[in-house]
Amino acid sequence: PRKYVIGGNWKCNGTVAQVSDLVSTLNKAGDFPSNAEVVIAPTFLHVPMVKDAVRSDVNVSLQNCSVDSFGAYTGEIAPEMIADFGLKWVITGHSERRTGFGGQAGETSEIVAKKTKKAIEAGLTVIACVGESLDEREAGNTLKVVLEEHLAAIADALSQEQWAKVVVAYEPVWAIGTGKTASPEQAQDVHASIRSWLSDKVSPEVAEATRIIYGGSVKGSNAGTLADCADIDGFLVGGASLKPEFIDIINAVE
Ligand code: 13P
Repeated sequence: PRKYVIGGNWKCNGTVAQVSDLVSTLNKAGDFPSNAEVVIAPTFLHVPMVKDAVRSDVNVSLQNCSVDSFGAYTGEIAPEMIADFGLKWVITGHSERRTGFGGQAGETSEIVAKKTKKAIEAGLTVIACVGESLDEREAGNTLKVVLEEHLAAIADALSQEQWAKVVVAYEPVWAIGTGKTASPEQAQDVHASIRSWLSDKVSPEVAEATRIIYGGSVKGSNAGTLADCADIDGFLVGGASLKPEFIDIINAVE
């Protein structure tokens, strides 16, 4: 059986005081389910304090990494630095980075695939995000975008062995931060398609072993039903990961 991954993506949130509070909430929570791997992703700035203070069964992740190594890349963090710092996880390809914000150009599927590969080569485990927008879903292009664009670019870049270091996060853009969670059927449908695509294009073993987690308005109240779906192996949580509710989401997979 695959172990659940419950990720908290804090995005660009938190003051020092709020981050300390969140860490102590996690530290005071009881034992987590033994079938849950918990990962939290604070901002680059808050990572060192979180790493020092958080309980040892919570993994600390970065939200992004550079596509390049050490060098003249102002404002970037190399995957090798993350590993050297003693961290093991990074998120790549979040839709907010793919879309771009504040007038910045977004990341292409090729960039996301390159980052994913570089991070794995540096020794990290990657939560690689894929997912369609509302327009793409309504046009009937969900699987085309998720499988043939987002996932295919990653699969083209990786060797079969490297998949052992990948967690796929399916995050339909229309469900992110909207309060509009995908129904368990909608999510399970896409997760099953991702798994069968992996079976065809990578290998049945990789398909069986790869955790496919869901993100998009996951709450304490819907986590249990989603986690019961055969191909949903955990969550990537945004808003609710900034609240004590995150503990309920972790415990929902028990
Ligand atoms: P919300 O849980 O706030 O919808 O965000 C999901 C997400 O984008 C996690 O990466």
